[in-house]
Amino acid sequence: DSKAADRTVDSVCPYCGVGCQLTYHIKDERILFVEGRDGPSNQNRLCVKGRFGFDYPNHPTRITRPLIRRPGVPKGLDPDFDPLDPLTHFREASWEEALDVAARGLGELKAAHGPDALAGFGSAKCSNEEAWLFQKLVRTGFGSNHVDHCTRLCHASSVAALMECIGSGAVTASFMQALEAEVVILTGCNPAINHPVAATYFKQAARNGTKLVILDPRGQALDAYAHRSVRFTPGGDVSLYNAMLNVIVNEGLYDQAYIDAHTEGFEALKAHVRELTPEAMSPACGVAPEQIRELARLYATADKAMIFWGMGISQHVHGTDNARCLISLALACGQTGRPGTGLHPLRGQNNVQGASDAGLIPMVLPDYQPVSDAQVRAAFEELWATPLDEKPGLTVVEIMDAIAAGTIRGMYILGENPAMSDPDLDHARAALARLEHLVVQDLFVTETAQFADVILPASSWPEKDGSVTNTNRQVQLGRAAVPLPGEAQPDWWIIQQIANRLGLGWDYTHPREVFAEMTQGMASLDHISWERLERESSVTYPCPADDAPGADVVFSDAFPTASGRARFTPTRPLPPDEPIDGDYPTVLITGRQLEHWHTGSMTRRSRVLDDLEPEAVASLAPAELVRLRMAPGDPITITTRRGAITLKTRVDPLMAEGMVFVPFCYVEAAANLLTNPALDPYGKIPEFKYAACRLGRA
Ligand code: SF4
Repeated sequence: DSKAADRTVDSVCPYCGVGCQLTYHIKDERILFVEGRDGPSNQNRLCVKGRFGFDYPNHPTRITRPLIRRPGVPKGLDPDFDPLDPLTHFREASWEEALDVAARGLGELKAAHGPDALAGFGSAKCSNEEAWLFQKLVRTGFGSNHVDHCTRLCHASSVAALMECIGSGAVTASFMQALEAEVVILTGCNPAINHPVAATYFKQAARNGTKLVILDPRGQALDAYAHRSVRFTPGGDVSLYNAMLNVIVNEGLYDQAYIDAHTEGFEALKAHVRELTPEAMSPACGVAPEQIRELARLYATADKAMIFWGMGISQHVHGTDNARCLISLALACGQTGRPGTGLHPLRGQNNVQGASDAGLIPMVLPDYQPVSDAQVRAAFEELWATPLDEKPGLTVVEIMDAIAAGTIRGMYILGENPAMSDPDLDHARAALARLEHLVVQDLFVTETAQFADVILPASSWPEKDGSVTNTNRQVQLGRAAVPLPGEAQPDWWIIQQIANRLGLGWDYTHPREVFAEMTQGMASLDHISWERLERESSVTYPCPADDAPGADVVFSDAFPTASGRARFTPTRPLPPDEPIDGDYPTVLITGRQLEHWHTGSMTRRSRVLDDLEPEAVASLAPAELVRLRMAPGDPITITTRRGAITLKTRVDPLMAEGMVFVPFCYVEAAANLLTNPALDPYGKIPEFKYAACRLGRA
């Protein structure tokens, strides 16, 4: 009942990269309900998370005072720990004491062991301003580039390929451009689950006549709208795309004029794919040669075509190769730079694009400028009046390995939950327990916070002002809607307090001042100001003028590479790191559910969402359950070379035989105890989308 609300505040959804704009309806300083707003990426639509996932800030386990670990309490996940009563393991402290302890521990480790003894994980859940401040703190206060965030587990391989091939890590066109396309390929993504409002645009496009082509090992809800839905063998993606390139080359379906004007390296690609025929690649990808030919012709001969991809592409040891193939397809066929064409990795978290742009990445400063480039460093050294380290830092999984090896000894973790999100959790949790000093800034005593020496109570999204950047490169403003509970503080304030205790002398008084500083170091934000965001709520980058709209489609004339041309990078099909065998004959795939977000720290504390999906389930094809002589709901044990979990079975006709899908948000059956930490060599992303496992009755 909207009449019951005292007031309304316009903001943005805190969950996925679609970036739906919404309105909070507030009564007595609490959010009553949420409505969709007419934002550029949602036009009043919201999915179940945006609509119902708003009450987690009021959950009884919310921490509202700083906490310090009690002496003698071991670090780690204690089955007896009760999040409603954290004072068994931690004691409450004043902000002054907690910040002093937090900063002193970090400072002492740096003094004793040097800057490389410290690392920081930021979060794609934080605002652009918080991401900027956090990476600035690590680079100027800790003195290293060991700062990373969940992009490493998400689209790092896509960004590596995009940077290499087209000189930019962002999408070339918004997902709304699907409405203009003749053909849309969705591969390695499941938008109805992971980007639900974007999925409504794909449905709308299909209804208008766009041919949706879905390429994935699993079926999905959008199959009902698809012109073709083709299931390939898990891990067979590079083979499939190379075979499509072979057809395009052999049948002369490429766009020679586009290639001549905008690219380099096509002759080498042509020679490379000559042997990778549909017949040669079909056994690896499981798609019939004639079907591969049809897919290639469909894409190449379309007047306007787009490719969208998700973590089914990126989370492989060959994730960068996957993305290179998709980029090559687009470049060979001239399918970028015009309305209705483009390359679009669907970004996961609400601010993974913005946090990456703002420099929460170990090898690059803001706007993807290499830390190893002396000129780049000099510009930031001048902006921040501090010398910077020239060595690229370690990535998420590498940081865990460095802790295990004893080289990284202290960490500051802001809003990330690696004790649930890292691969091979036993290893990751052992590393966290080994840290000599861990500061965690979060809303709850998360699984990761249970390893902390100091926990700093942070601000939830509806409690703060900040900008975020969605998958379409739209920078959008979130506005504080409700007050902070207890003694919780804005994240920018907490980061600044730590920075100043490390001697940095910061004096920001509001995120708008941070945003103003960002515009000095990030050309991508040219012509975007905080005042403009307050006025317009959303501005797309790149933006040519203060009063002009940003570019929905980019790279019509030239690419932002040294030569202005995009580059083809040939790839060779490689097997998964851990192929199935007689001992582990089934493929384990992990991911998200519609109702739950990542490690579940927010959505499992949202009443409606938790009621909808309250317990861990493993999804299996009906025939797989028959083979196992099990019924839906029976307990099943899934075992890999790294661990075992037990959870309930769920029958899912969209699954193929020989695979099992497990969401990674359930601590009681943590999927990442099972996953393989093997990394893609370029993006350093682990292979979450393929682990060899064994299924058995519990
Ligand atoms: Fe939020 Fe994404 Fe759902 Fe939109 S589609 S309401 S941004 S979770």
